[in-house]
Amino acid sequence: MSELHKFIFEGLPVRGALVVLDDAWQDMIAKRSEAGKFPQPVQNLLGEMAAAAMLMQANIKFNGAVVLQIQGDGPLKIAVAEVQPDFAVRATASLHGEVSEQDQFSDMVNVNNAGRCAITLDPKDRLPGQQPYQGVVPLYDDSGEKINQLSEVLQHYMLQSEQLDTCLVLAANDTRAAGLLIQRLPLAGEGNLGVPSESNEDGIGKSDDYNRIATLASSLTSEELLTLGVEDLLHRLFWEEPIARFIPPQGVDKPRFQCSCSRERVSGMLHSLGADEVDSIIAERGDVEVGCEFCGAMYRFDPVDSAQLFAPSSASPPDVLQ
Ligand SMILES: [Zn+2]
Repeated sequence: MSELHKFIFEGLPVRGALVVLDDAWQDMIAKRSEAGKFPQPVQNLLGEMAAAAMLMQANIKFNGAVVLQIQGDGPLKIAVAEVQPDFAVRATASLHGEVSEQDQFSDMVNVNNAGRCAITLDPKDRLPGQQPYQGVVPLYDDSGEKINQLSEVLQHYMLQSEQLDTCLVLAANDTRAAGLLIQRLPLAGEGNLGVPSESNEDGIGKSDDYNRIATLASSLTSEELLTLGVEDLLHRLFWEEPIARFIPPQGVDKPRFQCSCSRERVSGMLHSLGADEVDSIIAERGDVEVGCEFCGAMYRFDPVDSAQLFAPSSASPPDVLQ
């Protein structure tokens, strides 16, 4: 089962979220395996990214996709995880070199300290010309030392961009991708559900309550995160703390693997390529095939489809593939 739980520490300026992706993650791996399995370190990183993007989506009031992307300078060129407001998640990676089983985070994406991590908030109803919000951080710390864990990169990002102390624990294997987020906020209680508006820099590192709870959270091992149930995890860590839980997303809004690709979106992409380009591919190969890198779906357009696509009646192009 895949679950997402949000909670606050009553009366304290601290909030948290815990995500466990079991079936959602297994579905994602199964779909991907049809197109070829990623090396284990790449797959595990994608799992951690999916869990992290889920926690970020849970943590903001924003109607749009949270896209977490690593642009690597090593054998792993791009890794991306995307979570929609209804907690549909998808992830993929693009390699241009060998990743070995022993490779660590830096070996894959930050060989020359030129790797980057981008966090994009892409509004669902984006106006024409409106750019999505994007924050980009390097994969090294303030002293230039390579950071060797995704969780540390994101903690660093949140401290810099939002002046929020954040503790993240992430882990993934073949059956589960999971994460725990603990964050200090300027206000205690209900007020800490929203995004803080005022500058919060003065409080960094100074809340005893946050420091105590973050220390508890960081004692969580990968093994525990990958094997225990949600109730056991929360109880084991925070049994002495005043936790108030929120009703988790249910039913169709539960965390799940779901790809947003569609024939319509691929049509839009082909439309933007133009009739000449598409016709020349068809002349050469007989049809045009476009595969989705996230879910492996294959969309095929034969000469009849192409003629329809560029018929005068379809003058207004559908949404461009995202
Ligand atoms: Zn797809």
